[in-house]
Amino acid sequence: RARPWEKRGYRYSYDMLGEAAYTDADAIGYFQTYLDAIRVVGLASKGQGCIRSAGVSVKLSALYPRYEFAKAAHVHQVLYPRLLQLAQAAAQANIGLCVDAEEVDRLEISLDIIEQLAFEPSLKDWQGLGLAVQAYQRRSRAVVDWLVDLAERSGHRLMIRLVKGAYWDTEIKRAQEAGLATFPVFTRKLHTDIAYLACARSLIDAGMSIYPCFASHNAQTVAWILAYADQQQHREFEFQRLHGMGEPLYVQVSERGEWRPATRIYAPVGGHEHLLAYLVRRLLENGANSSFVNRMVDDALPIGELVRDPIEQASHHDYAPHPDIVQPLDVFWPRINSKGLDLTDPLVLQAVQHRLQVIKPNRLAQPIIGGKALAGQRVALLHPADTTQQVGEVIEATAEQALQALRLAVAAQPSWEALGVERRAMILEKAADLFEQQRIMLMQLCVEEAGKTWKDAVAEIREAVDFLRYYAREARRLFDLPLRLPAPTGEDNQMVLRGRGAWLCISPWNFPLAIFVGQIAAALAAGNTVLAKPAEQTPLVAAAAVRLLHEAGVRGDELHLLTGDGARLGKAIMAAPNLAGVVFTGSTEVAKLINQQLAARDGAIVPLIAETGGLNCMIVDSSALPEQVTRDVLASAFQSAGQRCSALRVLYLQDEIYDRQMAMIQGALAELKVGLPTHLDTDLSAVIDQEAQQGLLAHIETFRAQHKLIDQLALPTDLPAGHWVTPTILEVSGIEALNQESFGPILHVARYSVEKIDQVVDAINQKGYGLTLAVHSRIEMRWRRIARRARVGNIYINRNQIGAIVGSQPFGGQGLSGTGPKAGGPHYLLRFATEHCISADLTAAGGDTRLMGLSDT
Ligand code: FAD
Repeated sequence: RARPWEKRGYRYSYDMLGEAAYTDADAIGYFQTYLDAIRVVGLASKGQGCIRSAGVSVKLSALYPRYEFAKAAHVHQVLYPRLLQLAQAAAQANIGLCVDAEEVDRLEISLDIIEQLAFEPSLKDWQGLGLAVQAYQRRSRAVVDWLVDLAERSGHRLMIRLVKGAYWDTEIKRAQEAGLATFPVFTRKLHTDIAYLACARSLIDAGMSIYPCFASHNAQTVAWILAYADQQQHREFEFQRLHGMGEPLYVQVSERGEWRPATRIYAPVGGHEHLLAYLVRRLLENGANSSFVNRMVDDALPIGELVRDPIEQASHHDYAPHPDIVQPLDVFWPRINSKGLDLTDPLVLQAVQHRLQVIKPNRLAQPIIGGKALAGQRVALLHPADTTQQVGEVIEATAEQALQALRLAVAAQPSWEALGVERRAMILEKAADLFEQQRIMLMQLCVEEAGKTWKDAVAEIREAVDFLRYYAREARRLFDLPLRLPAPTGEDNQMVLRGRGAWLCISPWNFPLAIFVGQIAAALAAGNTVLAKPAEQTPLVAAAAVRLLHEAGVRGDELHLLTGDGARLGKAIMAAPNLAGVVFTGSTEVAKLINQQLAARDGAIVPLIAETGGLNCMIVDSSALPEQVTRDVLASAFQSAGQRCSALRVLYLQDEIYDRQMAMIQGALAELKVGLPTHLDTDLSAVIDQEAQQGLLAHIETFRAQHKLIDQLALPTDLPAGHWVTPTILEVSGIEALNQESFGPILHVARYSVEKIDQVVDAINQKGYGLTLAVHSRIEMRWRRIARRARVGNIYINRNQIGAIVGSQPFGGQGLSGTGPKAGGPHYLLRFATEHCISADLTAAGGDTRLMGLSDT
């Protein structure tokens, strides 16, 4: 198919479809496809050289399932040798090999790889090494400068493909979801266009160090480049377009009277099953209102408008960010979103590392009653993943101290309530700010005391902060003004909400900060005082949180910390007649026990708010996308070592897809890393304590004897003595096989035939848990039917919308212990340079000299 175009002077770059491999087997398959392609293209090129002959484009995410910043060390060990082999094959065939640009958080790692390749002795004489640069990234100009420098240092004339970027929607949504300071990409299309021109100018100005390849379908962009290149008398470059796109534009370029540059066509090659991700990007690109190709087919748009100078247009809004694209911290406005921490950004990691060296968390958890930390006998707290390490000490409260706390809390409640909702809400919001200021310290405690990975620890702090702000707002909404009720005879009927008194808040260890603080914040916001009883395993995090709440303005008598054994303390407090209520998160058995204790005591009947576990299921039918299913299954079943009440316990797979889906899930399981939570490349760590470990191991033993073991990850041999449970997949007939939650990294899988889907849902209902249910289906009738029939509190339906797969990628984070790419290299550029820094010198004469580009970066 390429031949007719080649006869007209076009060149090709072949893109072997397939990206974001989920298993190593897939990655090896893609690698082989690339290798074959290089061989075939090399044979066909007949020694014309890297520029004149066809080339191959490669996506690094296809070569290794964990092409992530967090896995930098493994990327260098596994992915790099594969890429080197491809580059050596391309060098031998004397053709070009271009590394495509993918998501923003993969840029640093791709630059590291390119730098390493550029200095490979075996590639010394090859001039076909290429990289795509995305102009929509705010740091694109700086990346171009770095590449020009690399070309000069290494003696390679790099083939740099300048694109605008194909993952814009994903980057925007991801930044919002992650609560980043701002976006890593521009928010106005015009700014991307201007950055593209600025980068193009730098590439042309680099002279013979670089062979620029300008990939665009925008006539204004193309015309500008031609004009600038003519002015500079620079002819060593080419244009590139996608197969099936920009044909009329490049026909005009090729019919240009004067000298005309060559055009290369980027052509996807492969079967339909691998086409989807590529196709989705093209649909998004062509479907966007702002896209040039979309605007071009609008007959109502005058041509002058279509090709207007982007600098002149951008000057009208002074290069300011787009006002309608909500900044990440404003997505819940008027509530401020909690700040995220981008663990894929080397500069952020440096700052975290620096902070970790400076802070000294308080490692003694004491009962805090009436604002005073009480003395007593100290008990050691051990690291769950390394029991040889003591992370701190705890002093347990006595039953008398607990009752003393209750008396103080009851006495203090009227004055706390009398403060008024506005003041209480402000105190909680101040606490949220303090939590954010102290987040590294809080994260460190979560990692060491609860065995949270760094990624989970970030989410933990964010959730706690969100709770504080959320309850502050809700309290204002509900408690501020009385609700006026109908008054048919002229009377004044008002409904006023108020606090009930002193509450006991009992929280679990699996969210030692978020749930602990959520319970307290809700109670305090409503005008109650609180006795906070954290889990025995995580008193350090709880004590840190209580200190910050006190610092924010909650007085000692209004919030007490009762460290120690739940059964002992709970029994004493719950017998007291002046307790106003209990909030509890934990196991169903303990919730039932508390319910009985409260029912048995004298005094008023008080509320019990209990959030207990779940036997959560996921139903997947044959229309689901295997990659999305795999990603969700791994995250839900194994993230946090399965220690979440919402974690996936039973996966139901339709018969027809069972084998294929399981092969992918098992392949992805093999890529998980179990290790110390302090290492950022760890995916999951140990479970919380020995009791949990033994229960889980016993469950696995029983089930492998009675049912079937499908897979189990081999634990690394160098793990320290800790509460390790290896991620395990067991086959069962259905949810009937399970009688209780196994709170750890154990996934049960069951087959079902599609005509029995109702029975599956009924079986789930009959278990009586109904916490969460997930459904993966593209068949609307089916997921609606399941959603209607299921008796669960929270249904997650993944309709496998095509947009969702663009850039879908598991979590990241680089080893704080220095296992990732070296920090401080020249390319570690400010990811979030201000959008304002596209400056244009409008006073200078002549279009091409007006571009200053992103000089501030
Ligand atoms: P235009 O319509 O002029 O520009 C579209 C660009 O504007 C897109 O980048 C879009 O994201 C951006 N945009 C839209 N709205 C906004 C906004 N509000 N704020 C900021 N920016 C906005 N892309 C990759 O990511 N990696 C690659 O490796 C890659 N390789 C390619 C290879 C070739 C040969 C070609 C032709 C394209 C390649 N692309 C790649 C895709 C490329 O990014 C898109 O084709 C390109 O964005 C379209 O640009 P344009 O100049 O043709 O269109």
